[in-house]
Amino acid sequence: MQNLDTKILQEYDRRYVWHPFTQMREWEESDPVVIVGGEGSWLIDSDGNRLLDGVASLWTNVHGHCRKEINEAVKTQIDRIEHSTLLGLTNDRAALLAKRLVEMAPPGLDKVFYSDNGSTAVEIAVKMAFQYWQQRGKPEKTRFISFRNAYHGDTLGCVSVGGIDLFHGVFRPLLFPTFLAPAPYCYRCPCGAVPDSCGLKCLEELKRIMAEHGDSCAALVIEPLVQGAGGMIVQPPGFVRGVRELCDRYGVLMIADEVAVGFGRTGTMFACDREGVTPDLMALSKGITAGYLPLAATLATREIYDAFLGDYRELKTFFHGHTFTGNPLACAAALASLDLFGKEQLLEALPAKISLLGERLRMIGEHPHVGDVRHCGMVGGIELVRNKESREPFPWEERWGTAVCLTARRHGLFLRPLGDVIVVFPPLAISLVELEFLMEGIDTSIREVFHG
Ligand code: PMP
Repeated sequence: MQNLDTKILQEYDRRYVWHPFTQMREWEESDPVVIVGGEGSWLIDSDGNRLLDGVASLWTNVHGHCRKEINEAVKTQIDRIEHSTLLGLTNDRAALLAKRLVEMAPPGLDKVFYSDNGSTAVEIAVKMAFQYWQQRGKPEKTRFISFRNAYHGDTLGCVSVGGIDLFHGVFRPLLFPTFLAPAPYCYRCPCGAVPDSCGLKCLEELKRIMAEHGDSCAALVIEPLVQGAGGMIVQPPGFVRGVRELCDRYGVLMIADEVAVGFGRTGTMFACDREGVTPDLMALSKGITAGYLPLAATLATREIYDAFLGDYRELKTFFHGHTFTGNPLACAAALASLDLFGKEQLLEALPAKISLLGERLRMIGEHPHVGDVRHCGMVGGIELVRNKESREPFPWEERWGTAVCLTARRHGLFLRPLGDVIVVFPPLAISLVELEFLMEGIDTSIREVFHG
């Protein structure tokens, strides 16, 4: 039974709020769940119901909701100062955090440029790469290489280097063209190869693009290890390293978008660590504040930074900056989160969870309408198909992914699919018991949807 407050809040929402990535006609006919609290891995709604946060509040949450240590850090900071600008000043939290980020990032990333969301972090990397070559005497290097199925955010620069037409096709006339390389999607290999024995055939097409066009390319943009919004598509081992080698060989900068995979998600602090790769530019957001506050950082090598140095009249300055750049509250949350990583040995605790997740995904993979299960660290993707044998997908309009996720609410889970891919992306601090509950609920929901 809903309480009165819930009804009023739902009404205000339907009347006044325009939701992201949402067909509002449908939304207006729904009774949205109103979240008013959180505790650990759980969201609490306005009627007191608890839902396990299976997607870590859009892939941001690390240590669980409402963590005392981070709450305290933010409260302490707000009594000191809420915001001051990085244009003409610095602040203690931003300086301390930049030092920590450089110390923990892949070696060679020495400078931190702050912004406040994942899209801006990528947009900044794209603009830095472009301007870098202008100032290094290679003004012809203006083009970008991107991957099919890539998602880097919703600003026009990010959409230009993205590869999901369903979301972004309508904006095509506003975008700059890129060289679009095939991305590994081993379940539906774009090169028609057999995974494991293919020798990374997908790198061959990238090599061809680089050989032909590398001279005109400023940078390549990649989501290392996992293409997130494309459907939690996991890259085969060696792919990211292979991309790095090709970038080096053909003089193209490598931009790693670790917005979704950074901060422990793939089992190491950064996805690039798994492949021993240092990108030239790295975009971070989401988990940087453990999901507390909007913050992003674009990390750059000294080589890139140095190309922007000069007399102010040379106009080599990077003319870009957002109002809330380096916000001290957000930086305080980020610092507290990094402390918790150490104190709770969060990365060290992951292998047991990762192996449980893998085991449960394999079991779910037995289901007659589950075509593929993908797994990397604390990320899982479950692809639903009409025909397991032929791998024929469901028509996307049938929205089986949505049906499973809505059913999962009845089992105490909040999930949000990507088309017909069920996303598993819980807070990293989730307990083994909660993870078991999550996977059991997904398994049951899939069975109920397909077998009644
Ligand atoms: N890059 C990646 C890999 C992402 O997954 C996202 C968001 N899901 C973004 C960039 C954009 O981040 P934001 O929504 O904070 O702009």
